[in-house]
Amino acid sequence: MANPLEELIQSASAIAKGMGVTFKEMMSPTVTENYPDEPPKFEERFRGVHVLQRDENGLEKCVACFLCAAACPSNCIYIEAAENTETVRISGGERYAKVYNIDYNRCIFCGYCVEACPTDAITHGHGFEVSSYNTSTLIKRKEDMLVPFPTRVDPTIVAHEAEEVAAH
Ligand code: SF4
Ligand code: SF4
Repeated sequence: MANPLEELIQSASAIAKGMGVTFKEMMSPTVTENYPDEPPKFEERFRGVHVLQRDENGLEKCVACFLCAAACPSNCIYIEAAENTETVRISGGERYAKVYNIDYNRCIFCGYCVEACPTDAITHGHGFEVSSYNTSTLIKRKEDMLVPFPTRVDPTIVAHEAEEVAAH
């Protein structure tokens, strides 16, 4: 049986060891996400709401080839294609997506569409706040997903998109 002095030393040692762990954790950077007060931190590979990309000239990268829709296991991509003309050029290819919808009621964020795209037109963004009680709001249109037109490019190159879309 340990004498009282040894017991005291052992107890003090155990308390010091425990407090050492406590103080070490107090000084470490926090890993807690303060969402929604602060935006969460995402890994680059996070698959959020899709983003439709433009090229360096501001043209839409999507050429309406339908490969993403064919690869989608949930059948949630809807595309209507239209031809670029001499006066109205929307994408860098022969065709562009006049309509491009993704139904997020069905999307499982598998990334197959992104892998299938030959022009890197569709990518995953980091958007994740898509929950809704109204399922009709979960159908995202091209206009919801398309990156903004770059400010350094002359916008007249696609200025007639609205008229062209309306004409079809
Ligand atoms: S992430 Fe998967 S389920 Fe969602 S649109 Fe792309 S292919 Fe379809
Ligand atoms: S997003 Fe890519 S794969 Fe889908 S239609 Fe457009 S170019 Fe083709």
